[in-house]
Order: sequence, then C-alpha cells, then structure tokens
Amino acid sequence: MKRTLLMIPGPVEFEPKVLASLGEPTTSHLDSSFIEAFGRSLEQLRQVFESPTGQPLVLAGSGTLAMDCAGANLVEPGDKALVVNTGYFSERFATILQRYGAQVTQVTAPPGSRPCLDGIKSALESDSFKLLVVTHVDTSTGVLTNVQKIAALAKRYGVLVVVDGVCSVAGEELKMDAWNLDLVLTASQKAIGVPPGLALLMIGPHALEAFHKRTTPVLNYYADWTNWLPIMQAYEARKPSYFGTPPVNLIFALRTSLWQILAEGMAGRISRHLAISRACKAGIHALGLAQVPSQPQFGAHTLTAPRYPQGVNGPDFLARVHQAGVTLAGGLHPEIRGEYFRIGHMGAVTLADVLVTLGAIETALTGCGYIFSPGSGLAAAQKAWSEK
Ligand code: PMP
Repeated sequence: MKRTLLMIPGPVEFEPKVLASLGEPTTSHLDSSFIEAFGRSLEQLRQVFESPTGQPLVLAGSGTLAMDCAGANLVEPGDKALVVNTGYFSERFATILQRYGAQVTQVTAPPGSRPCLDGIKSALESDSFKLLVVTHVDTSTGVLTNVQKIAALAKRYGVLVVVDGVCSVAGEELKMDAWNLDLVLTASQKAIGVPPGLALLMIGPHALEAFHKRTTPVLNYYADWTNWLPIMQAYEARKPSYFGTPPVNLIFALRTSLWQILAEGMAGRISRHLAISRACKAGIHALGLAQVPSQPQFGAHTLTAPRYPQGVNGPDFLARVHQAGVTLAGGLHPEIRGEYFRIGHMGAVTLADVLVTLGAIETALTGCGYIFSPGSGLAAAQKAWSEK
C-alpha cells in the first residue's frame, strides 16, 4: 500500500483519534453514551459557529444536503433570492433555490474575482428579496468573500443571509451572531475534520422565524426541519428520540474532533489556518506560479489555487505530484478548469504538510521541464512561516 498525503480541498487528512472514533463499537442511537456524544456535539457546534443563539442541525449527508436542506426549508415558491456568485458552488446553490421555486437573481464576477459591494447593493435595491446566499469560500476558485460586509449590507434591506461555509467553517474567521448571519452550513470533511458524511447547519432565530411562517409544506421530506428540530432539541436535552437513524460512528468522530477544535480554541485555529495559508501562497509565488484569486485579499485561507506555469501539462503535473507522495486536486471552475490546480490546507494541517506538498510540487515541476530555482518555494514558505 502506498502512503500519500491528502492535500485536496476536502476530504482532508484526519486526526488519528477522530479516525479511531469511527472504530468504536456502534451503539444504539438511543444509548445514553450516544445521546451524550450527540447532545454535547450540538452544544459545541454553537461555539465553533460562534452562534450562542443558533439552532444546530446535523444530518447524515454531504455538504450538498446541507445546501438542499437550507433551500427546502427557507424557500417557498415565488420567493425572491439573491445569489452572490463566486463560482461553481454558488451556481449549485442557485440551482437548488430554483428547484424549490425561488426566483433567483445573481450578481456575478469573472472567475477569481468576487462581486463588489456596490453591485450587491444595487441588486438589493432593485427588488425585494427574502434571502441572500453567499459562498464564504468558493472551493472552485479559492475566492474568499467578505461575508461580514455583505451581511451588514443585506441587513439594511431586511434580507435573510445564508452562508455556504462548507470550505470555511472552523478554518476562516466567521462569527455567525456578531455578523448577523441567519444560516450557516458546512460539511464534516473539511475544516471540521471528520470523514465525509455529515451535513451541519446552524439556524439563526430569523431563519427559524421565516420557517415557522411558511404557508406551504417543505418540498423535501427527509430535509424538512419539522421532522428534525424536535430530534436535535431532544438530543440536547439528553433525551432519546428518533426520526431517521443518525450516523452513530460519524457522530462519535464529530464529538472527538469538536473536542480537539475547542481545545485549540477558535482564535488559535483561525490564526493557524492564516499562517499555513500564507506559507503555502508564499511558496507558490516564489516558484513563479500565479494564483486564481485576482487579488491577494480575495484569497481564501483554507486552500490555494495556483495556475499552471506555461508549458506545464496539468494531468502530467498532478500525476508527478502523486508519484512524489502528495494528492492534489485539479481545477473545477468550468471556465478555467484546465488552467489551475488546488491545494487544500485545512483541519489538522501543519506547516510540515505544506512543506512536503511544496517539495512534491517542486519535484513535479522539475519533471515537467519547468525552469526555476530548486528549493525556492520551500525557502519562501519557511520564511513566511517564521515571520508570522
Ligand atoms: N459548497 C462548497 C463551498 C464546497 O466546497 C462543497 C464541496 N467541495 C460543497 C458546497 C458541496 O459539498 P459536498 O461535496 O460535501 O456535497
């Protein structure tokens, strides 16, 4: 068996103790040890999302289910929604909202850029929207949006703010209550640090109010909050309850990961992601590779999206990186898919992981015939790290 380092933007490398939790004996979902693990995890999620007023909801499924769940429960046919589009995952959210009958308006930007606040403001002025959806980090481009400012703007128009935080929660700074966000969602396999399979939502009081005011049924049976809210509340009250069988071992793994996340502390975790990201981006820059985000301040801290240098063939390069022991991801945004690759650095990631990755990238670039000063990426990353 060949050991490789998984440095894609999810799933990521997981902590051994988290993985060991998956191997704990599976209990009944009504067992007191499971009720305690689930109840405690729900409580701790409020700390991770920085949302003391939020209602946590954890479902078996991927991030797309979390998006689907938000759309199904917040949208009634004919509602108007504004999508701040930064790429592939914003497109997906728009499609989901339309599926539930929303009339969707989009503010867009070229790949690597993000819609400006003025553009979002004019869109908000142009119509009466029920909700605004924004992708905090669009994993297809590595673009980070200014969620805090967008939410402050949307609040002036009384619009619900829904954040796709799949590639940001527990890796980027995000203060749900302080920033007035109404719903933030994520998935387990990224900065939350648990293997794929959990959809996590934090529902704020205004989003819950909008849900309770619905006059039409939720058009998705599994995702309907009517079914799940009593279950989440029961687990938090440490009472047994059932709607659909929860993924017992994934919840054990979540319990372990949340414990680790909070032991590190949110501020420490966010600054670690920042320092790791700076080191990675400094290394990539020193190698002479451009990045997809068109301005440094648009760059996310959970992944880096370098463009291939001229003359380097993407699939050949990625195969060589793999051969050197690191798995990276190719491009995803349909307009520029073949022009760049992606390095995920979130969750339990360390400087050592980034250095190994840059080393493998240097080895692959050499193999592809690219001319650069060997070791320059590694040196720049170490310098950036030491300056943190
Ligand atoms: N939104 C974003 C920003 C993502 O990065 C992803 C997954 N890469 C998703 C949504 C969808 O999540 P999943 O693949 O777990 O369904």
